[in-house]
Amino acid sequence: DVKRPPEVEEARVLLPIVTEEQPIMEAIMLNPVVIICGETGSGKTTQVPQFLFEAGFGSAGSENPGMIGITQPRRVAAVSMAARVGHELSLTSSRVSYQIRYDATVSPSTSIKFMTDGVLLRELATDFLLTKYSVIIVDEAHERSINTDILIGVLSRIIKLRENMWQEGKENIKPLRLIIMSATLRVSDFAENKTLFTTPPPVINVAARQHPVTIHFSRRTYPDYVTQAIKKTTKIHTRLPPGGILIFLTGQAEIAGVCRKLEAKFGRKAISEKQKRRGQGQPRRDNEDEDVWPQPDPKQSVNFAQAAMEAEDVDLGQDNLAFDVDGNMDGDADSEALESDDEDQLDTELGLDEDSNTPMHIVPLYSLLPSDKQMRVFQPPPPDCRLVVVSTNIAETSLTIPGIRYVVDCGRAKERHYDVTNGIQSFQVSWIAKASAAQRAGRAGRTGPGHCYRLYSSALFEHHFEKFSIPEIQRMPIEGVVLQMKSMHIDTVINFPFPTPPDHYALQKSERILTYLGALAPAPGTSSVITKKEGQITDLGRAMALFPLSPRFSRMLVSGQQHGCLPYVICIVSALSVGDPFIYEDAIGRGDDMDIPASSGPDLIKSQAKEERQQLRKAFFQSQHVHSSLGKCTSDLFKLLSVVGAYEYAGGGQKFCAEHFVRPKAMEEIHKLRAQISSIVHSNFPTTDPGFTPKLSPPSDHQVAAKHCADGLRLTIV
Ligand code: ADP
Ligand code: MG
Repeated sequence: DVKRPPEVEEARVLLPIVTEEQPIMEAIMLNPVVIICGETGSGKTTQVPQFLFEAGFGSAGSENPGMIGITQPRRVAAVSMAARVGHELSLTSSRVSYQIRYDATVSPSTSIKFMTDGVLLRELATDFLLTKYSVIIVDEAHERSINTDILIGVLSRIIKLRENMWQEGKENIKPLRLIIMSATLRVSDFAENKTLFTTPPPVINVAARQHPVTIHFSRRTYPDYVTQAIKKTTKIHTRLPPGGILIFLTGQAEIAGVCRKLEAKFGRKAISEKQKRRGQGQPRRDNEDEDVWPQPDPKQSVNFAQAAMEAEDVDLGQDNLAFDVDGNMDGDADSEALESDDEDQLDTELGLDEDSNTPMHIVPLYSLLPSDKQMRVFQPPPPDCRLVVVSTNIAETSLTIPGIRYVVDCGRAKERHYDVTNGIQSFQVSWIAKASAAQRAGRAGRTGPGHCYRLYSSALFEHHFEKFSIPEIQRMPIEGVVLQMKSMHIDTVINFPFPTPPDHYALQKSERILTYLGALAPAPGTSSVITKKEGQITDLGRAMALFPLSPRFSRMLVSGQQHGCLPYVICIVSALSVGDPFIYEDAIGRGDDMDIPASSGPDLIKSQAKEERQQLRKAFFQSQHVHSSLGKCTSDLFKLLSVVGAYEYAGGGQKFCAEHFVRPKAMEEIHKLRAQISSIVHSNFPTTDPGFTPKLSPPSDHQVAAKHCADGLRLTIV
């Protein structure tokens, strides 16, 4: 009794996975856990839930009445896939629903529920057996996000529990099934891990029809990959046959910029004006609305803190990220010779004319774009246009875009980065893994043979790219992992069935540190108030878990809150986390002749240099003195507070940094981290929220005293 629209039925039978429905369903019925691997676009996300639905899963009165739950690492996929599957099954959003952190369409009649992995992890707190579900699909498992890894670990246990309870005939409980879906074949961490699954789950490979894709490397790797992307796209558009272009960049700001520039060059308006100037006729207009350019919505401003906390969305669209590329990384002569062939082929084809009468239909795609605008990538472009999609890595595996023939890959992605020493999380642009580059290239071969233009050299790719991306759990500071798991009510972290387990000793040690910090309940008898079992997260720990900081720094924040000097503690914690911003005496030289090279010229110049050096030293000590006077005592912390305060009053800037002997990059990072922490405080502790004002007044004596506590705390812990 499933009714699909005719055009859906037509498109669906062409998907490789549909021919595999029988063996897939058989495996699912016979095994509690099944792994499905299939190239992006083979139909995993849209079709497997439908196979289950047609087999009765998620329908009242059937063998398996519990919901079909599908987890996604990104909100955009949860929302858009729910809409797509709802459309394919001709069911409303109350039957095929989604749930993300602040938005949901679920109802009591929901059969298929798409959600972020964060949402399912939170559900465990209230319903550990996930009794509402009969099957859970963990999608995009190859991404190996911390949430995915933890979910798979927890689910491996829940499946056993549900199985046992069902066999004992308890409370109407039915077994739960687990399906792990991956876009790559690298699933051995799940399939061959005996701690995780005692019986190895079957792995089903869905063969995808993939047309050949020709890879073209750049001769050199330029740091300004945004400009390179525009150049390459221009060349493809003006010189190569029709076919959609998919450009991979790293974030919202870049994408908006590239879209604007391409629009100005090849947008419909630009083309028709060019033609008017040349006295040619207007190009055909098929759809007036199509060239209304979607402007970034100012209301969509990024709440970094919120998003980072939820760990639901990796594409936060932060701009102004610095990125340095080592220019010497590539360029060995051999590979250059090979690469230049590819480049020249494109360069010389059809001469050097960088003009075209074909308008581009340019569509941006990133997580924070409202979903109706995201859905534009699935709509066919007007017939006389070339589709150009400018995307973050959400188009790498989460979403498939029809009609793409050319891929322009910048080779970078913005990913959550952890500093293992200070626990700070940030989003940084870094090189992708070879496996990701292959995924991106694959996007060009869906409809026919395609081309992938990599904006980096083959030497860089060969020698500098990791084979696979490293699982997030191995990149995170271990104390942070433990605190996060405890906040998910996972109490036995030491014996947890991780797909890739962290070091056992490190886990033990971090539990001890967290207990010492008050984040976990101590052993009975060691504390006067015992309300929690040993090792369980305390209220303090729960508050600490909200901050993207090393637990000892979040502990300082929470005590700062108690003494009413939060803005200052936020300031100090930010500075300590970023690292010492001061430039030290050694770095400015000693002021005598010793380090001025003998070859540096006549005596006059030497003595000038000496005098300058002495002036510099004088200024340095003056500045040190100024920033040490706060609170009438000398302390690193006050020096930090003082210089950050002064920096904000001066409105930042290179000049200030030079005069005060601090590193501009560190000062800017401190500024950003302060804003981020303040915004977490704002959304979680509205009653104590001091509000974020960059300019702080110097602290009163009382607050200075309270900060001594923080100081003491830091000394005990470091
Ligand atoms: P996988 O999960 O294996 O990567 P999907 O199930 O997401 O594959 O997609 C299967 C096919 O369905 C894709 O080739 C894509 O073209 C099509 N598709 C997915 N979502 C939409 C949509 N919103 N509109 C139109 N087609 C879609
Ligand atoms: Mg998918």
